[in-house]
Amino acid sequence: MKSLSDVYVLSNKIGIPCIGFGTWQSPDGKVTVDSVKAAIKEGYRHIDTAQMYKNEESVGQGVKESGINREDIFITSKLSNTIRGYDATIKSFDESLRKLGTDYMDLFLIHWPNPIHFRDSWQESNADTWRAFEKLYNDGKLKSIGISNFHKHHIVELLKIASIVPMVNQIRLCPGDTQDEFVDYCEYKDILLEAYRPLGVGKIFEVEEGRQLADKYNRTVAQICIRFSLQKGFLPLPKSINESRIVENAQVFDFELSEGDVDLLSNLKGCVGYSADPDTATW
Ligand code: NAP
Repeated sequence: MKSLSDVYVLSNKIGIPCIGFGTWQSPDGKVTVDSVKAAIKEGYRHIDTAQMYKNEESVGQGVKESGINREDIFITSKLSNTIRGYDATIKSFDESLRKLGTDYMDLFLIHWPNPIHFRDSWQESNADTWRAFEKLYNDGKLKSIGISNFHKHHIVELLKIASIVPMVNQIRLCPGDTQDEFVDYCEYKDILLEAYRPLGVGKIFEVEEGRQLADKYNRTVAQICIRFSLQKGFLPLPKSINESRIVENAQVFDFELSEGDVDLLSNLKGCVGYSADPDTATW
């Protein structure tokens, strides 16, 4: 990867820009509009939002005000944990399109595999939901479809009914939490891994080894983490509402971590904690 507009190619041959701009906890309104515009101005061509972030309207507004054509921006959103089933999914997807101010989406994900509201019936509710995703994909309203926070057993269950294998799984991947066995399984299934929390929601800045590597490469800790993600073959989704950090997080294409340093970061087990278990999470 040489720049923000370079792409990973999904299993359906769609290109997905190699760094996505995260927006979790970006408040709806001017902050999100302005940060999305700043990101696009810097060259980001991929924005990650979700129904549960409650900022789709501002993301859509930022894209519109950026002056860049809609078709040159890759937009992802995710189905809320409160919505499952065929009809409800189609309706909710249409509502997301309306909020984003667009007539198609580049990628839509089932945000969590086993929401608390559907805990007794997650297999069936994911199956019905996935049929709606496939319909939207076949109708051209969705360019690609995927999942998030799915573990292997959730994928195995989904593949029993799926006509289309998910193109993406968005999971938490960062130094010390690289989920190697599961990553191998997704790669074997040709499912691209997107790395959420690539900075450990800021916790990585307190880790001594991160600071040492930043000194060694004359980079910031954030840049080391984003570079780490790319070199692992993941698609990182760094979030910031701060313009100078948005710029900083994009300057990761003119240096390379040694294999040894990638391994060192991988092996900092639990240095920024681990992801929540989707089968026991309280949301
Ligand atoms: P993150 O990107 O790992 O970290 C974001 C935090 O780091 C923010 O507090 C941000 O603060 C700060 N930050 C960003 N760049 C920085 C820099 N260069 N120097 C110092 N601090 C910096 O965490 P995240 O937002 O949880 O994850 C990234 C994205 O992944 C989300 O925004 C979302 O799009 C996605 N995500 C998905 C899921 C899922 O369930 N699928 C879950 C979590 C996240 P400022 O904004 O103040 O700069």
